[in-house]
Amino acid sequence: MRSFEPLPADIVATKLGATLFTPDQVPNLEPEQIVVLLASDEWSGAIISDRPLWIVYNPHHAATRYESNLMHEIAHVLLAHKPVGFDPVTGRPKRKQNNEDETTYLGGCFQIPKRGLLWATQQKMLLPQIAVHFGASEAMVQFRSNVTNVPVKCL
Ligand SMILES: [Zn+2]
Repeated sequence: MRSFEPLPADIVATKLGATLFTPDQVPNLEPEQIVVLLASDEWSGAIISDRPLWIVYNPHHAATRYESNLMHEIAHVLLAHKPVGFDPVTGRPKRKQNNEDETTYLGGCFQIPKRGLLWATQQKMLLPQIAVHFGASEAMVQFRSNVTNVPVKCL
């Protein structure tokens, strides 16, 4: 595929053989954990098994956030981070900060590659149009503009 083509996270997840779950679909999750996870906005997703690859995601997030959430989890897989499971106290997925930073960066690259962002600016696309083109949030376009030094116009 070309760098300017949008890459839906679902397609990558399918290629990786991932099964995606909402919390209530996860086998053997405690009912209390399901309640906590469904009520909370403070988590996005987690890898709960690497073989087979199982990813749980927060079903209450917007479509653009679903894309970045899922790309983030896919980046964990490609960077070979170990699944961390759930914190038994909070019921939320556990995390290691340096892994998270690497993953957030790589997930953004998948959503909007630098060459794709350059292409979009050469097409005179504005920030909101770039967001729609790549299925990303406007915040993600701004983040990619900042880290790639590709200026993006809003108006
Ligand atoms: Zn993460």
